[in-house]
Amino acid sequence: MPTDLAIGCSCGSLKGVARGFAAARVNRVVCGCGDCQAYARYLGRADELLDAYGGTDIFQMCPRDLAFTHGADRIACLRLTPNGALRWYADCCKTPIANTFSTSHMPFMGMVHACIDRSHDKRSLDDMLGPVRVRVNNPAAPNESSTWALIPMLLRYGGMLLWWRLRGDHKRSPFFNARTGAPIVAPRIVGAEELRKLKGAQDRDQTN
Ligand SMILES: [Zn+2]
Ligand SMILES: [Zn+2]
Repeated sequence: MPTDLAIGCSCGSLKGVARGFAAARVNRVVCGCGDCQAYARYLGRADELLDAYGGTDIFQMCPRDLAFTHGADRIACLRLTPNGALRWYADCCKTPIANTFSTSHMPFMGMVHACIDRSHDKRSLDDMLGPVRVRVNNPAAPNESSTWALIPMLLRYGGMLLWWRLRGDHKRSPFFNARTGAPIVAPRIVGAEELRKLKGAQDRDQTN
């Protein structure tokens, strides 16, 4: 049964809603890649954002269904590399919100679990989002999904993305200007040296 899911940053300055939200309609993925880990460190919230194997819990949905109702001027954008994904977060308290493609033409986004406003909704993530469908990009994790497990997921994503694009949702993202397709704020690109440090911190942690 679709309902509205409250979205917000930790300090309450940014608020929004994921409209018509239903666990059955989102893809919940845990991504263990080095970039997601570096991003959590950049925000200074790695302990809270990453699971025991360094994975980030993400639920993928259509940007059209996300709207900000308060404090949208708090939104900032980061790219770890010049060609990397756009990582949108609330600058006030460094809460990650969503990751998108760099172009508005792909109406698809991964919402980071910490963006859910749980002040009034005390359900577990499993109850809100359904079970994790796949775990990717971290071969060291014992619960990593097999390649075969990814195929139905990729087919499902591909179909959803195509449908959303055909119905024009690339012009209905809160992160891109509907007319020009430009990001609503210019992304900050992390320098190579800074990125090396962010990733180096991970390596140190993992050997401790
Ligand atoms: Zn905040
Ligand atoms: Zn990742």
